[in-house]
Amino acid sequence: MAATNPHYDYLIVGSGLFGAVFAYEATRAGKKCLVIDKRNHLGGNVYCENIADINVHVYGPHIFHTNSKRIWDYVNQFTTFNRFTNSPLANYYGELFNLPINMNTFYQFWKITSPTEARQKISDQISKLPFKKAGNLQEQALLMVGPEIYEKLIRHYTEKQWGRDATRLPASIIKRLPVRYNYDNCYFDDTYQGVPVGGYNKLVAKLLAGIDFKTGVDFNTNRYELTALAKKVIYTGAIDAYFDHSHGHLEYRSLQFKTEVLDMENFQGNAVVNYCDPKSKFTRIVEHKHFEFGRQSKTVITREYPVMADKNVEPYYPINDDRNNAILKKYQTMAAQNHNVVFGGRLAEYKYYDMHQVIASALKVCNRELYTAFEVEV
Ligand code: FAD
Ligand code: UDP
Repeated sequence: MAATNPHYDYLIVGSGLFGAVFAYEATRAGKKCLVIDKRNHLGGNVYCENIADINVHVYGPHIFHTNSKRIWDYVNQFTTFNRFTNSPLANYYGELFNLPINMNTFYQFWKITSPTEARQKISDQISKLPFKKAGNLQEQALLMVGPEIYEKLIRHYTEKQWGRDATRLPASIIKRLPVRYNYDNCYFDDTYQGVPVGGYNKLVAKLLAGIDFKTGVDFNTNRYELTALAKKVIYTGAIDAYFDHSHGHLEYRSLQFKTEVLDMENFQGNAVVNYCDPKSKFTRIVEHKHFEFGRQSKTVITREYPVMADKNVEPYYPINDDRNNAILKKYQTMAAQNHNVVFGGRLAEYKYYDMHQVIASALKVCNRELYTAFEVEV
C-alpha cells in the first residue's frame, strides 16, 4: 500500500531498458521518479564496462535489431548506432562454419554451390528420418537441416546451452535459428541493426538524465519502506521474488562470463564464435572490440559457460516449460490484483525479450499509465 503523501509518483525497480524507458517517458510527462537497482550500476543487462579502452558487454553480446522504424528512431534520438551486424561463426573441434546456416555453411559441409543442390542434399537426408512431424527440438532440427548439420552445429551447443537432452526441449527454440538458401551470413533479418557508438551506457545515461536513482538497493529486502516513497511502483525484477516464491521458484538458465584481457590486437577476427563441440564447456567466445570495429593494441574476450540460475547466479533465459508456465500463471493472478504495482520487463513477465521488444513493451505501459501518444506493436 502506498503512503498518503509520497515524495515520488513512481518508484521504478530496475534500471534496465524497461525501467529506463519508463522513467524517461514518465519524467517527460511531468511525473517525479526514483529508479533503484540492486546492482551497483545502471542499465541492467545492456551495461558496458570500459576495459583496455574497449566497451565490454558485461552481460553477454548485445546487438540491437528491429523491423520497427518507430523503435529505431526512438533509440536513435538518444545515441548514434553503428553499422554492426552479427555474423557469428561456429567452431566444431577446430573446423569453422558460417552461421546462421546458409549456402556458405552448405558449401563448407558438402562443397556444393547451388541452392538446388543444397535443398536436394537436405531433403534426401530428411526423407530417411522415421518421423514427419517434430515433437521436440531434436526432431525439429533434424527436419530443418538433416542429421549431419544437426550433429555438428546444433546438438551439443543446444545441450550445453540448456543443460538437457535436445529431445527434452520444445521445438520452438530451434525455430529461432535461421536456415537460408542464399549466401547471407547476417544473423538477423531485421531492417535496422547496429550497436551504439561508445556502448550502451550512453543510451541509458540519456534516458535517465536528471532522474533520481539509487544503486545497490534491493527492493525485496526493504519493500515496505521503498514502496512508501511513491504513489505507484514499476517493478522489473523477478516476479517470483516479488511474491516471496510462495508458489515456488521459476527456473532460469544462466551464464557465467569469464573475461580476459589479451596482449594482442585481434584474437579471433570476429565478434562471436560459437563452440558447437561437446569438448569445449563454453558455448561461445565474444571478442568485444569487433562490435565497434576497434583497433586498440589489446583485446578483451569473454567465454560463456551456461549454468542454472540460483540465488547467487543471475537469471537470464526463462525456461518456459509446462511446470514453470503453470507457476507463472499463479503469480500473474496475484499480480493482477495488485493495482499499485505494474510488472514489466523480462524478469517480471518471465519472457525472453530482445531489446527492441522490451522497449516496445515499456512504451505500451507508458501509453496506458501516462496517456502519451505511443502506439507500438510489441
Ligand atoms: P534487465 O536488463 O535485466 O533489467 C532489470 C534490472 O532490474 C536489473 O538491472 C536488475 O539488477 C534489477 N533488479 C532485479 N531485481 C531487483 C530488485 N529486487 N531490486 C532492485 N533491482 C532489481 N537483446 C537483443 O535485442 N539483442 C541481443 O543481442 C541480446 N543479447 C542478449 C544476450 C544475453 C546473454 C542476454 C541474457 C540477453 C540478451 N538480450 C539481447 C536481451 C536483453 O538483454 C533484454 O531484452 C533487456 O536487457 C531486458 O531489459 P529489462 O529491463 O527487462 O531487464
Ligand atoms: N543454436 C545452436 N547452435 C548455434 C546457435 C544456436 O544449436 O550455434 C540453437 C540453440 O538451441 C539456441 C537456439 O538455436 O538456443 C536459438 O538460437 P539463438 O541465437 O536465438 O540463441 P539464444 O538467444 O537462445 O542464445
